[in-house]
Amino acid sequence: MSAERAVARIDLGAIRHNAGVMAAAAGGARLMAVVKAAGYGHGAAPAARAALAGGASFLGVATVTEAEELRGEGIDAPVLIMGPLTGGEWARAASAGAEVTAWTPEAVARAAAAGAGEPPGVHLKLDTGMGRLGARPEDVSALVDSAAAAGDRIRVAGLMTHFATSDDTTGENASFMSEQLLRFRSAVAGVRDRFPGALVHAANSAATLRQPSAAFDMVRCGISLYGCSPFGGDPAEHGLRPAMSWISYLASVKTLRSRESVGYGRVWRAARGTRVGLVPVGYADGYARCLSPAGAEVLTGGRRVPVVGTISMDQLTVDLGPEGAEAVGEEVVLIGARGDERITAEDVAAWRGTINYEVTCAVGPRIPRIHEG
Ligand SMILES: *Cc1c(COP(=O)(O)O)cnc(C)c1O
Repeated sequence: MSAERAVARIDLGAIRHNAGVMAAAAGGARLMAVVKAAGYGHGAAPAARAALAGGASFLGVATVTEAEELRGEGIDAPVLIMGPLTGGEWARAASAGAEVTAWTPEAVARAAAAGAGEPPGVHLKLDTGMGRLGARPEDVSALVDSAAAAGDRIRVAGLMTHFATSDDTTGENASFMSEQLLRFRSAVAGVRDRFPGALVHAANSAATLRQPSAAFDMVRCGISLYGCSPFGGDPAEHGLRPAMSWISYLASVKTLRSRESVGYGRVWRAARGTRVGLVPVGYADGYARCLSPAGAEVLTGGRRVPVVGTISMDQLTVDLGPEGAEAVGEEVVLIGARGDERITAEDVAAWRGTINYEVTCAVGPRIPRIHEG
């Protein structure tokens, strides 16, 4: 029996390998490893170190606290904070030596004012169609002029945009990515000469795999580093190896008679006498409550068994079948591979009606991460 109720095992060798795959896909461009949201649930600092060892040379996060955490772990690679900053966060970013993203002249001024000694690296973000952060086309020249006017109080370290549909290769969404690429190319063409040190970057994992010409000077990859497919399919198609497996155990096994129920609301009843196993993982751990009616399965005893009954905060139940021989203490794999069977984050996402990103991010803080390799 495992010493822990449940753990997420993180294969750092897989992250190194995946970084190598994405660095190769990027051609000669640099690889930024995106380690926001605790490395998509894998642990930011260990994921960052593994990605740097595998070929990344830049790190990306969403918040200033995430940048500070990396510095606190002694990681001194360049870090870009891609999200918006509030008042005092500009100075915190500067003292962490993190680069920042700006899309208005006001933000450029704040970055310039926050610089502590070294001029802060600023990445100018253009909105080419995502519609979230970034200067709209009519606002780009004011942004660029403000960055030029800041002189040596800032260092313009990047010109960037973000794709809305790079994961969707069908229909109108496929051509929208090309449209964004065109808009970005033409915006950058007019600006690049003014900031010769700036890295031009646009591609996330999906764009890197799909469109080598979108790599520019750097690609920003997250999901692929963790061995998940940005397209939601089989990661092996891209040579990616899943890094996370999520393991628990059978804490109780009992025999139910036909028509007896399991769990809250009695939503599942045994159609025949059967063995039911209890796994001490629930929705508070990130195993979403909607998974059981959606047909989710786990691996135990080398086979797939269905999750049945309402998933509780701390527990879920599985139907081992009338012949189920698994005993208390048997390993249960919520995500991972055993023998020929595997359950991927993509499988869980499909049951849950979401994307693999949300599945690994959701694995909660109650689940210890065990970094291996
Ligand atoms: C999260 C993020 C990425 C990484 O995207 P993946 O699809 O995980 O590769 C890249 N760029 C920006 C701006 C992001 O916020």
